[in-house]
Amino acid sequence: MTETLTRVNRVGQAAGLASPWALSLRDSWGRTARDLRLSVTDRCDLRCSYCLPREGVKWVSRQELLDSSEILRLAGIAIHRLGITQVRLTGGEPLLRPDLLEIAAGITHTFAAAGRDPQVALTTNARSLAPLASALRAAGVQRVNISLDTLDPARFAEITGRDELASALEGIDAALSAGFQPMKMNTVMLDQVSLREAPDLLRFCLERGIEWRAIEYMPFGPHTVRVGSAEQLDFSKLRPALEREFRLSPVHENIDIHAPATRFQVFDLAGTKRLGTMGLISSVSTPFCADCNRTRLSPTGLVRPCLFSNLSCDLGAMLRRGASDDELAQAWAAVTWEKPSGHGLGQQDFHSPTIPMAQIGG
Ligand code: SAM
Repeated sequence: MTETLTRVNRVGQAAGLASPWALSLRDSWGRTARDLRLSVTDRCDLRCSYCLPREGVKWVSRQELLDSSEILRLAGIAIHRLGITQVRLTGGEPLLRPDLLEIAAGITHTFAAAGRDPQVALTTNARSLAPLASALRAAGVQRVNISLDTLDPARFAEITGRDELASALEGIDAALSAGFQPMKMNTVMLDQVSLREAPDLLRFCLERGIEWRAIEYMPFGPHTVRVGSAEQLDFSKLRPALEREFRLSPVHENIDIHAPATRFQVFDLAGTKRLGTMGLISSVSTPFCADCNRTRLSPTGLVRPCLFSNLSCDLGAMLRRGASDDELAQAWAAVTWEKPSGHGLGQQDFHSPTIPMAQIGG
């Protein structure tokens, strides 16, 4: 994985070009970022205890947040000049952004203007999705990932600080009716309760044609409070727990090396009826850094090549000082070149990023 990466030369320098990264977001380990995670707001309507503190959140000021034209300008540079092929709208909670439809439609239009298939996706907690699902689909959003950690209303309230499971479930129904394809549901495995609930979460998704993805908890950021047991769940216990109720068969065909999930076909216990697919995302125990093709833009225009590193470049500030598209593209490429080879979680010299996941864009 990460250890197998070797530093590469700046090909452009060898070829005598002035700007080796002019057309792509390439790093010094030979990876190229094609997937832009665009965090459109740091605000969230839930207070998941492992992500945001329930009180005392220091929000980015309204003046610092990029407006829709600034976001679309940076997305345009990424798509037209830097080889970005897909954009995922995230946050914070992206649905809280009043101009989200305008942003989604603008990015869809930018892809079309560049002569490429629009690839626009959304990650959301689904709490406010019901009234917006059809309009988002019409604005060009094709794929939706829903984050839902439990189907138990009391535990939902405990984790998120809000008694809102019913709204999230309504959002999921509305998204299914709006025809997003594919739909995935992400569950962070927090503790023993997550482990017990896992088969029901998988069943819920299989019954609806949603791909369920279990995510290993990442000890990350300034707020690493967990619900339930103080002991972190050993992620390797998940597959055996699921295999008491389902038969899982690893998917070997059409593997997208950049997709973080190890995918499985799910069958009934007898192995006769195929029920759907699911994925395990073990970012900590089995890092996928060697295949990472992501770049992240915060709501204030900070580029973060890696979710776990403080390495950044403030394109928002540059843009407001009057930088040209060329200068912004060069700066984005230059900071990408410095992307670390791996996230370093669990290593002695690892320092948690100084800003929360909600600001960087989960
Ligand atoms: N509000 C949106 C949502 O809920 O999907 C988008 C932002 S949220 C930060 C994105 C994802 O990051 C969610 O699925 C959340 O559960 C996950 N997440 C946040 N902190 C995490 C952590 N420490 N480990 C693993 N996943 C985490």
